[in-house]
Amino acid sequence: MSITIAGMTKRFGPTEVLRGIDLDVADGELVALLGPSGSGKTTLLKIIAGLEWPDAGRLTVAGQDWLQLAARDRRIGFVFQHYALFPHMSVRDNIAFGLTVRPRADRPAPALIAARVDELMAFLQIDALADRYPAQLSGGQRQRVALGRALAIQPRVLLLDEPFGALDAAIRRDLRRWLRGVHEATGSTTIFVTHDQEEAFELADRVVVMGQGLIEQTGHADQIHDHPATPFVARFMGATV
Ligand code: ADP
Repeated sequence: MSITIAGMTKRFGPTEVLRGIDLDVADGELVALLGPSGSGKTTLLKIIAGLEWPDAGRLTVAGQDWLQLAARDRRIGFVFQHYALFPHMSVRDNIAFGLTVRPRADRPAPALIAARVDELMAFLQIDALADRYPAQLSGGQRQRVALGRALAIQPRVLLLDEPFGALDAAIRRDLRRWLRGVHEATGSTTIFVTHDQEEAFELADRVVVMGQGLIEQTGHADQIHDHPATPFVARFMGATV
């Protein structure tokens, strides 16, 4: 699904968190929102998910006015930094959750849910973990399960907020490769938030650099590296290389 954001602003009290965001994401694209902490990345993601409301601006998804849709009708897959898995549920039940809580009329039959979850776990290479509980998983395994739960609802848009932020470097690298493979196989429109340049450049088709509520530059890794559009981007790239 293509996403168009135009003239979006948001303030919390005196703080202008988004100061006029214009962004187009193509159907099937994987875009990284890259920027320092506090630049407004998470707020933008939450507005797309329907967890926050903008003060002004337009948001359309596949041509549909997205702000008119209730959050639950948007069919967003959301993966948070701190894996919000249900501790009392097995991996299988965590992944099935988004399907089992649907209104009855819209809920697949239990056998169908089980089949879909099995298929998804095999695809994500987590089938061996099916009957474990979150406390019995490593951090990297938990994030694979969290992605499984997000994908189970066949999301129209997949949003990831620093999903690997709490993990160590080697595991992050593995998960990046794995996520890139999953993205290529599903082709879902994906927005990924990170403050880590390496992560953004390795994973994304296109990187959107944010600073203090504005988009400073949008482009491919080489463009941003070699031709930073603003002093902010040059400083940010230099500071974190
Ligand atoms: P990022 O994801 O780039 O770190 P955020 O979108 O989380 O940035 O936050 C941007 C700014 O908005 C920060 O200054 C943060 O403190 C502020 N902020 C975020 N959410 C709220 C909120 N619910 N109430 C007040 N201020 C908030």
